[in-house]
Amino acid sequence: MSEGSSAASNQGNAGIGGYLKAPAKLTLEDKLFLVAFNVDKEPHLKLKDKAVCAACKAKPCLYICPVENYTLQGEEVVLSWEGCLECGTCRIVCPHDAIDWKYPLGGYGVNFRNG
Ligand code: SF4
Ligand code: SF4
Repeated sequence: MSEGSSAASNQGNAGIGGYLKAPAKLTLEDKLFLVAFNVDKEPHLKLKDKAVCAACKAKPCLYICPVENYTLQGEEVVLSWEGCLECGTCRIVCPHDAIDWKYPLGGYGVNFRNG
């Protein structure tokens, strides 16, 4: 390739670069806004034994769930299932295998197709 054609090519890329902009960065909240849920009345996540959770020192579930489904109410760990993204992270990090974790029944749960 000659020097001249290389320079022309670079100019072309610079021109395209002027039109191509990186998409705006979405926050977690923006992304969650695009997700839909069909929530079952029956929870697909349950804590097996509250005594095990009470004795759990680190309680990583409180910090790892992206939608904060695990909360402390007083001293007690409370688990919600409505906004669950079905990522399975809580099941992996729980050091005591204290979560009865299942996918929601067919037709229920998170729908990522909107996002
Ligand atoms: S990490 Fe597991 S055992 Fe510990 S509080 Fe959370 S669910 Fe309970
Ligand atoms: S599966 Fe993911 S989104 Fe659902 S409760 Fe566990 S960590 Fe939270």
